Amino acid sequence: MRVVYVDNNATTMVAPEVVEAMMPYFTEYYGNPSSMHTFGGQVAKKIDTARQQVADLVKADPSEIVFTSCGTESDNAAIWGILRANPQKRHIVTTRVEHPAVYNLCKYLVQNGYHVTELGVNSKGMLDIEELADAIREDTAIVSVMYANNETGVIFPIEEIGSIVKQKGSILHTDAVQAVGKIPLDLSKSTIDLLTISGHKLHAPKGVGALFVRKGITFTPFVIGGHQEKNRRGGTENVPSIIGLGKACELAKKHMAEEQTQVRPLRDKLENEILKRAPDARINGHKDYRLPNTTNLSFEFVEGEAILLLLNEKGICASSGSACTSGSLEPSHVLRAMGVPFTAVHGSVRLSLSRYNSAEDVDHIIEYLPPIIKRLREISPYGREIKERKQISEVSIRDIV
Ligand code: PLP
Repeated sequence: MRVVYVDNNATTMVAPEVVEAMMPYFTEYYGNPSSMHTFGGQVAKKIDTARQQVADLVKADPSEIVFTSCGTESDNAAIWGILRANPQKRHIVTTRVEHPAVYNLCKYLVQNGYHVTELGVNSKGMLDIEELADAIREDTAIVSVMYANNETGVIFPIEEIGSIVKQKGSILHTDAVQAVGKIPLDLSKSTIDLLTISGHKLHAPKGVGALFVRKGITFTPFVIGGHQEKNRRGGTENVPSIIGLGKACELAKKHMAEEQTQVRPLRDKLENEILKRAPDARINGHKDYRLPNTTNLSFEFVEGEAILLLLNEKGICASSGSACTSGSLEPSHVLRAMGVPFTAVHGSVRLSLSRYNSAEDVDHIIEYLPPIIKRLREISPYGREIKERKQISEVSIRDIV
């Protein structure tokens, strides 16, 4: 069966060039980069090259890049690193739409005596900048606001946020896991102090990430151990994956323009055709301030999981916005924070493309998704009711629920 993979915000295919770059570090060059001998030393040099490649993608200095095991570790390292370095400050500002790597950490922090202010978003998934400014206090150790949302693709105005954070004398961390490689970032002219990167979202393998820590930021390591990563992250380096992340960043830089010229038009065509062919569908999230690869669509009165199962039968790999990728049946905290109606939250689907998707992939989804929605509506009691009423108002939707 033909597989159409449009779940790239969950994970991406490892680029063939990345696999090729990694292979010798499993076989021939297995030395420990911390060793005194030349055999290990040559591996350390390749890690330096990878650090340069990551830094080049985000226009940072290589000394500001710390390799980690994943995006989740980078998020934890950033927040704990700043809290531990500033023990007198026990307040954190974040948003209601963060990835669990930040969201659940903040919940844990609250249970452990920290104070967290969670900023809400409007129906388009955007923050209220004044609310952010008011939330930052004297004792705010860190403001952690994601760059782009993994469920909706909504992009926050991070530089505007950063200048407010600077004026208020706090530190800005951004989880840029979904932004890096999809939109250009320039940390040389930025107000961001710490930034999270995850390898597997940009065609590198799973289990490797990076944290940008701006020069001059006092940061206490999260993983305490050996002197690796200039004392900022203990543990022998995951050499092949770091080499892979470096190569993936080099490729992302080379292909960045395609995100706008190739991926965005495919996403737009997919979205427009589906909206045209499936009634009672809506896009969740701001249409303009959005990643070029992501669309989060809600189909009222059908279950997202049912859509995914039927898409799966047609070889289409997508995600539900109503249930986290973990398989939990909790409705999406992101869509709920946006005030998306209950009937639409449950029928949401995220399609996320990459530069490896083709026009044929998009046509395949356009062919199969609208009939799937029609079929589900016909067998759903809510769907039948829509048909009978022909026109349905917000009030009557609430009546049905
Ligand atoms: N932050 C965001 C926005 C994500 O989308 C993800 C992964 O889905 C993570 C953090 C966690 O990254 P990792 O899977 O590398 O731990």
